[in-house]
Amino acid sequence: VFDVLVVGGGPAGAAAAVYAARKGINTGVVAERFGGQVLDTLAIENFISVAETEGPKLAAALEQHVRAYDVDIMNLQRVKQLKTGDLDDLIEIELENGATLKSRTVILSTGARWREMNVPGEEQYKTKGVAFCPHCDGPLFKGKRVAVIGGGNSGVEAAIDLAGIVKEVTLLEFDGKLRADAVLQKKLASLPNVRVITSAQTTEVLGDGQKVTGLVYKDRIGDSLNTIELEGIFVQIGLLPNTDWLKTSGVELSPRGEIVVDARGETSVPGVFAAGDATTTPYKQIIIATGEGAKAALSAFDYLIRSN
Ligand code: FAD
Repeated sequence: VFDVLVVGGGPAGAAAAVYAARKGINTGVVAERFGGQVLDTLAIENFISVAETEGPKLAAALEQHVRAYDVDIMNLQRVKQLKTGDLDDLIEIELENGATLKSRTVILSTGARWREMNVPGEEQYKTKGVAFCPHCDGPLFKGKRVAVIGGGNSGVEAAIDLAGIVKEVTLLEFDGKLRADAVLQKKLASLPNVRVITSAQTTEVLGDGQKVTGLVYKDRIGDSLNTIELEGIFVQIGLLPNTDWLKTSGVELSPRGEIVVDARGETSVPGVFAAGDATTTPYKQIIIATGEGAKAALSAFDYLIRSN
């Protein structure tokens, strides 16, 4: 039986495991892929105190830090269910392989994934011009031309943000109009280097083999195909939390599927805490996920010393 069982081995889970283990309590981490989204990242320049690193390098450092403590790491294991309410007050975590783990507290940190356009060229040019995070990759496109795909709040926020850095932003929205809040749309309309194209369906990412050179979109009204020359494409059509497996668990999820947490990282279920991109905490960033993971572990420890 674990005192703290962490589900997910990204930045949030790694931080939670280190903080829990440092209390001398029985700590485990179960992860489908230790490292999480960081493994898919090339340059990271905003993890404070590390001016520049690469995703796989940071992922290895996270794992090394966790392994410096007595933590039971169960990698390449997918969790499929969380159960509570048994007589012994323990929380049960059921794995895809049929095994069940029991713990006095659980920290959920299963992260999220960006929704993709699923068009030719997108996969090939990821990290070579196709980007998903303006806070992360915006500065790489200083003085260049970029497109933002998606006219919801995150797309319009991204376009406003990028307009201050890049030369020119083209925002493409599938629908006939933008869906972002009016105040954001007003701000967007005031910017001289942003143009908005509605009823536009991106159909292809173009490149020269090394990097992005443009995109093709279909005008959904006139049915014509049009090409835009540019250096970067920010896809902002949704961030999906990895929480489907929690739907029947009793842990409260927001309408977007994020785990609802309070300021201490507690969920609606006693003894169950959560941290990182899978939660309602705003701004999905590595440094935020690690901070939240540390906080959730301290909250779990606090909970443990108050229960039998
Ligand atoms: P994740 O990193 O998503 O980790 C989730 C963990 O849970 C993984 O181990 C996963 O395998 C596991 N998991 C999921 N489901 C299950 C399950 N059912 N059972 C068991 N395990 C499960 N942020 C920055 O701050 N700077 C950047 O430069 C930056 N660049 C980025 C570039 C890209 C391409 C991407 C995709 C993201 C980038 N981010 C960046 C965002 C950053 O990676 C995330 O905010 C951060 O990784 C979130 O950490 P997390 O621990 O909450 O989740």
